[in-house]
Amino acid sequence: MQRYSIFSLARNALAGHRNWAQAWRSPPLRDRYEVIVIGAGGHGLATAYYLAKEHGITDVAVLDRGWLGGGNVARNTVTIRANYLRDASIPFYVKSVALYEGLTRELNFNLMHSRRTMIDVVHTYPKMRELRRRQLTMDIYGATYEQISTEEIRRRIPALTGGGPDARLPIIGGMVHTDAGVNRHDAVAWGYARAADARGVEMHQQTPVLSLIRGADGRIEGVETTRGRLRARKVVVAVSGHTTTLTETAGLKLPLRTMNLTAFVSEPVKPLVDVVVNCPDLGFYFSQSDKGELVIGGAPDSGQSFRRDIKQHVFEDTVGAMLELFPAFRKLKLMRQWGGHLDITHDASPIMDETDVPGLFVTAGWWGGYKAIPAGGLCMAHHVATGQPHPLMAGFTVGRFKHLDFIMETGTTTAR
Ligand SMILES: Cc1cc2nc3c(=O)[nH]c(=O)nc-3n(C[C@H](O)[C@H](O)[C@H](O)COP(=O)(O)OP(=O)(O)OC[C@H]3O[C@@H](n4cnc5c(N)ncnc54)[C@H](O)[C@@H]3O)c2cc1C
Repeated sequence: MQRYSIFSLARNALAGHRNWAQAWRSPPLRDRYEVIVIGAGGHGLATAYYLAKEHGITDVAVLDRGWLGGGNVARNTVTIRANYLRDASIPFYVKSVALYEGLTRELNFNLMHSRRTMIDVVHTYPKMRELRRRQLTMDIYGATYEQISTEEIRRRIPALTGGGPDARLPIIGGMVHTDAGVNRHDAVAWGYARAADARGVEMHQQTPVLSLIRGADGRIEGVETTRGRLRARKVVVAVSGHTTTLTETAGLKLPLRTMNLTAFVSEPVKPLVDVVVNCPDLGFYFSQSDKGELVIGGAPDSGQSFRRDIKQHVFEDTVGAMLELFPAFRKLKLMRQWGGHLDITHDASPIMDETDVPGLFVTAGWWGGYKAIPAGGLCMAHHVATGQPHPLMAGFTVGRFKHLDFIMETGTTTAR
């Protein structure tokens, strides 16, 4: 793998940037692999990378129907945090946040990771009680989450001038999560792809998988693509909102619904806020990008949907809520808006498991799954390679829905 550094940048600048090596190859598609990973998003690419790095399994093809990193990994608002509620979740997300912090160096790709801190601005006592519960559980796992006063919130976020005593919903306090951060999403996809490619993994873009193929014994045997039939004894489905459309081709029903989540950005402005601001009672959050744009997200649209745009009422609700707390933002121009479709389980926790179809693995239900990419990839690779669930993902089984053994994260990962 060509090393990226200040020296290689200077050398290539002198040569007019004509000598950079390709970040990953485009080899011919073979008809058989040891492992096929469907979906070149964050989870698929990270799984392939850790299969090669941690387990020496390099006969791997990552297939994507579009271009690498063109799904939700490139459509999200890059908030990375570990403030969850359940014992099954917190260590997993703590690990993921920790992995992210070392990932620029590991992948030799500048992710522009910035440990920003997240401040939750709270308006209601039920929400404050729920966040205090999270704090107490998180304490056990060494994750940072502290209560702060309204005065401290205003000191740290000077632009927050609304929410005073005469407001519709006055601010009653907040929580601060110093482990939280943001980074650059396309770099995460490209960094994992480049490092996986360097270890022998093949990336195949423009290769939609049409269906999963099972053998007479019921085991997975491969996939049918628009470029022909490919064989593999192990297949990983990492296709985010499209999970059920694929798994149903193998006769498998999973407890997932696909929903639309949206975001938008403002014009760039000078540095205004240096933390991620999250307002769970009002239903919006934002951070400021290195370019100066405010990156703003709201609550999901409540119905099932495969939309990738934004619904007007969701947009208006989010902007209205934001202006209650930040009235000065009414002067901002909004530049771009978009959406993505994500799948969500009944308990809002992911599924990472081998399914009832032997050899078929699923990593899905990633509602807030950007933060989970490093640990998700690490754990899936472990399960695929060893046949045993990684201890950090042991609770995220498909079987929990049969036994009503839910990991309820509703509200900590989504408003649903
Ligand atoms: C607006 C928005 C904001 C978000 N904000 C955050 C946030 O702040 N923090 C956070 O943690 N998470 C956030 N998320 C969620 C996060 O983006 C997703 O949970 C995560 O990216 C999903 O995993 P992925 O990267 O593997 O998915 P994707 O990048 O969507 O990868 C799936 C890939 O599968 C491919 N594919 C689909 N079907 C097929 C097929 N049949 N054959 C071949 N390939 C196929 C797609 O083309 C795609 O490239 C947000 C999402 C959205 C939409």
